[in-house]
Amino acid sequence: MASMFARRPLLTTATATSVFAAAYYVSQPRRPFMLDSAQNPPMKTLAFPKNMLFSKQLKVTNVEQINHDTKRITFALPGGDKEVSGVTPGAAILTQHTPSGAWLPIFRPYTPVHDLDQRGVLELMVKKYPDGRASGHMHSLNPGDELTVRGPLPGQWTTPKDQRDILCIAGGAGITPIYSLTKGILANPEDKTRIELLWGVNGTRDIVLKKELESLERQHPDRLRVIYAVSGPEAKPDAPSLGDEMKYRKGYVDKTLLQEAITRCQKDGAWGDAKGQKVFLCGPPKMEDAMVGKEGALTELGVQKKEIHRF
Ligand SMILES: Cc1cc2nc3c(=O)[nH]c(=O)nc-3n(C[C@H](O)[C@H](O)[C@H](O)COP(=O)(O)OP(=O)(O)OC[C@H]3O[C@@H](n4cnc5c(N)ncnc54)[C@H](O)[C@@H]3O)c2cc1C
Repeated sequence: MASMFARRPLLTTATATSVFAAAYYVSQPRRPFMLDSAQNPPMKTLAFPKNMLFSKQLKVTNVEQINHDTKRITFALPGGDKEVSGVTPGAAILTQHTPSGAWLPIFRPYTPVHDLDQRGVLELMVKKYPDGRASGHMHSLNPGDELTVRGPLPGQWTTPKDQRDILCIAGGAGITPIYSLTKGILANPEDKTRIELLWGVNGTRDIVLKKELESLERQHPDRLRVIYAVSGPEAKPDAPSLGDEMKYRKGYVDKTLLQEAITRCQKDGAWGDAKGQKVFLCGPPKMEDAMVGKEGALTELGVQKKEIHRF
């Protein structure tokens, strides 16, 4: 998640964003239209404009406060039940916001969390940051309001032909791309990938999508393991146990936790996606630096930069 700002500063201005995004977008393969059948009446993919110079307005239909700082915002697709969003696993859309007094809009990526074959809706889970321009605007939206979006940004996942293991690491709100990727992989009968998911949160109150992740783990016990690394006051040695100690670990996503997960991934000797990426990482800048910097935990464990996908 850090990457979007630190490594792609062009995204902070309207003009540069459009040019960059359009060039990037047109260079990527597009998702094929979904097949129709007797069970599935004719269905279209939301017709986002062909490039990111142009936008689309989506209307808010529902807003739900999920926890102390996160809302789930549901938007209607213009084509209603005859349409799916067309966003692929792990992919994001670009949202546009014009803070009051600003001349230029700002753009922020958000990863939808609805089931990707769900018709008529697009759902975002939005964490509000103090003074956050986009997240503040998103949290002010009410049913009936509209949001300007572009996209979708292309997804990164290619289904491997053989069985593979990957390690997904999320920090805080960075869970949404990781969740979307995980759900997409597990929903695809052609995909046999196994996933170790490590999610670092400041406290148990920050855990969202818990029911959804538990349900995926129940449905796919051999293919998904989720471990929560809880830091903050609840991680103090004298703080009460967080429950299942193999599942709820105290502290950050550190080298020990990473090594354990990597060892599990390596046990069959086949890990990494079709492009050779082994780790999928999305978290706040500090966390990503602690993973992939010169002395980052992943670097020290021998995972090379090219084997890590940062969202
Ligand atoms: C591929 C991708 C998908 C994303 N999907 C989602 C999503 O589904 N849901 C979601 O809530 N967010 C998601 N994000 C993050 C989102 O795009 C914004 O970065 C975030 O909402 C903050 O934007 P803002 O304009 O509100 O904050 P800004 O106005 O840019 O910053 C306000 C303050 O918040 C701090 N801040 C900003 N971002 C972070 C961060 N990530 N961690 C810690 N502090 C931060 C800044 O340092 C600053 O102090 C995603 C990011 C990427 C790259």
